[in-house]
This record gives sequence, C-alpha cells and structure tokens, in this order.
Amino acid sequence: MDFMLSDKDRAFKAHCRAFAQQRLRPLADKYGETQEVPAEMVEEMRSAGLFELLLPQELGGPGLKALPLCLAREEMAGVYCPADVTLAMQGLGGLPINLAGNQAQREKYLGPIGRGELLTSFALTEPGAGSDVNAMTTQAKETADGFVINGSKKFISNGYAAGAVTVFVKTPQEDNPRAMSAFIVDKDTPGFSVAQRLEVIAPHDLTLLEFKDCLVPKENLLGEVGQGFKIAMQTLEVLRMSVGAAAVGIGAAALAEALAYAKERVQFGAPLADYQAIQFKLADMATELAAARGLVYRAAMEKDAGAANASRASSMAKLFATEAASRAVDQAVQIHGGVGVLKGSAVERLYREIRALRIYEGTSEIHRIIIARSLLAEAG
Ligand SMILES: Cc1cc2nc3c(=O)[nH]c(=O)nc-3n(C[C@H](O)[C@H](O)[C@H](O)COP(=O)(O)OP(=O)(O)OC[C@H]3O[C@@H](n4cnc5c(N)ncnc54)[C@H](O)[C@@H]3O)c2cc1C
Repeated sequence: MDFMLSDKDRAFKAHCRAFAQQRLRPLADKYGETQEVPAEMVEEMRSAGLFELLLPQELGGPGLKALPLCLAREEMAGVYCPADVTLAMQGLGGLPINLAGNQAQREKYLGPIGRGELLTSFALTEPGAGSDVNAMTTQAKETADGFVINGSKKFISNGYAAGAVTVFVKTPQEDNPRAMSAFIVDKDTPGFSVAQRLEVIAPHDLTLLEFKDCLVPKENLLGEVGQGFKIAMQTLEVLRMSVGAAAVGIGAAALAEALAYAKERVQFGAPLADYQAIQFKLADMATELAAARGLVYRAAMEKDAGAANASRASSMAKLFATEAASRAVDQAVQIHGGVGVLKGSAVERLYREIRALRIYEGTSEIHRIIIARSLLAEAG
C-alpha cells in the first residue's frame, strides 16, 4: 500500500517504524501496561519529533495533517499503546486550538503541545451523553469574570496526565438553547478535578473529570460562543481516520505474531502453517488489513487535499479498519490456541487493546449512520 505514499511520506513512515521498534519497544518492556503516561516515553516521542506534527505553520510546523498522523499511529499502536494514545490526545486536544484559537491561545498552548511540554486531552463524552453528544448537560454560564462550568466528563483519555483539557459544554442562548462552546481549562483551575481514574480492559490513563463552579477566564473560550459543536466535529473528522490507522497497526502486529506462531507450532507432525485452514485465516487477515490500510490512506489524503466527502471517507476508514483489525486479532488468538488467551502473551494484549477502538470516536453503529446519511443525501 506504500505505493500510495510520496517519497517524503514513505521516509516519515520508515522513521516512525524505526522509532517504534528501536525506542518504543524497550519502553513497552520497561513500563508495560499502565494507567500512567511515562515521562520517559513522552521525552522519547518529543526527541523523535512526533509532537511537531501538531505545530501550526506559524510556529514552524506543518499544521496538523491527517496522513502523517495516520502513519505515525499505524507504526506505534501495535508496539506501545500509551504512546499511540498520547499522540492521538495531543491531536484531539490541540486541533481545536489549531482550528479556532486566537493568536494568544495559539502562542500559549500550541507551542508547548507541539514540543510535548504540555499534555492535553479532549473532553466531550459525559455519563449521560455518549453517541448522543447533544444530550450533554455540563454547562457554562457567562458572568462578568468569565464562564462558570458545572458538570462532568466521562471516559477522558490522558485526563490525569494532561496539563490542560479542551472541553465542550452547553452555553444555552436565547435563540439557540442547544448551543455548545469549547474552552481550554488549565489543570490547576479551581473547581476542576479528576474525580476518578477509570480501569479498563486495556489499561490507559482514563478519567472522570468534574467541574464544580469552575471559573474559566473569557480568554479561554475557543472561537465564539456556539461554535463548540462545529469545532468538535471538525476535530473528530481528522482524528477518526487515525483511529483506523492505529487499528491497522494493531492488526498488523497480530498478523506478525500469527505468522511466526503458525510456522513454529507443530501439531499432527507438521507446522500449523502447512494446514490450509490456517493459511486461509492468514490470507484473510492480510487481505482485510491491506484493504483497511488503503481506506485509511485514501481518507487521509482526501482530508489533506480538502475534498468535499472527507467526512464520509473518514467514517468509512474508521469503521472498516477497526472491524477488520478486530477480526484479524481474533483470528491471531485462534491460531495461538490456548497460548492466545494466556495472560502476558502478545496476542492476548492485542485482543484487549483493539476492543475499545470500535467504541471511541464514534461507535461502528454511529459511523454506519453517518455514511448512510451522506449516501442518502447525495442520492437526493
Ligand atoms: C477507552 C475509551 C477512551 C475514550 N476516550 C475518550 C476521550 O478521550 N474523550 C471523550 O470525549 N470520550 C472518550 N471516550 C468515550 C467514547 O467516545 C464513547 O464511549 C462513545 O462515543 C460511545 O458512547 P457511550 O459509551 O456512551 O455509548 P452509547 O452512546 O450509550 O451507545 C451504546 C451502544 O448503543 C449504540 N447506539 C447508540 N445510539 C445508537 C443509534 N442511534 N442507533 C444505533 N445504535 C446506537 C452504540 O453504537 C453502542 O453500541 C472513550 C471511550 C473509551 C471506551
């Protein structure tokens, strides 16, 4: 699939692969599965120039382009999940500032985010508002001193490690009671807290955030009051396809494990790889992952080129890649037999890690709805 890439993109992908194999793999062995965001990992990612992808042009970066983000996530996700999540969260938290931030906000936040000095997160989901974003109840009330936020945000990745969070809340207006706005909230703001650290099947920094009479200065409003929904959706349009890229990376890691095991494991006097039933599984895994990779690259290229249907392509890439990779990981476990479900085996970890990708940044069902609506609208 690399034939789709320019020489520059191919070189960047090779750089990310070398970084993942040579620098991240030892860190994965050292820190293992963790709810923390290891500072050493962040420093290594910074040294490799990965956060610079997020720097806007005026700060010497490329501005966040979808394709390099996808290539980096593809190479890192199968090697060390916290690194992949951290790059994604820098994108999710930083892109709203890139899209809607004024000059002061850009200078204050984007430089540190792009240098990996400031970790950030993206807080949209609430206990009562997941797929139905508009059901959110967290509200900001405008006062003379700023905006007072009350409510909570659930399932927020890197919420504990983040120094600033980009949060989306309701700001009802007379003419628009459902209006939503986006704010940057610094970690030390009084009234803001990490209420709970959530434990998931594949551990990462996942939190419940609380806002209790949290006064956020007016200069932390992103864009204008009422623009929050648009900012959130524009951000997700870029990041969703990169979830597909991460899924391809996890699927590819599972395929590599399955190939090695099928060659090594002997049953009935021959390696598993000699049996056609196993060969068909390997063939299906590789074929579906190649198709997924193609959809992800196409979506990223369309987005970077400003194509009209980029949102549909992003949903297609996320939907297909996360489902195909889940099937591939499941087959890798099957090929490993009992060893595949032993705690500590590589495919057992990948099996747990792939699961949430079909849920976050829009479930598979929600992406089918987005794709179908777009098709139906086009059909007139
Ligand atoms: C590991 C992890 C990390 C996350 N990180 C973040 C983060 O950093 N920031 C953030 O804001 N959020 C984050 N989330 C939240 C995630 O985006 C939501 O979990 C997701 O949007 C689904 O919402 P929900 O869990 O409330 O499920 P629900 O919306 O309650 O859905 C439950 C089920 O019903 C289905 N469903 C819902 N509506 C429909 C419909 N109309 N038609 C058909 N089926 C439907 C869904 O597809 C799903 O299968 C994370 C979640 C996880 C698991």
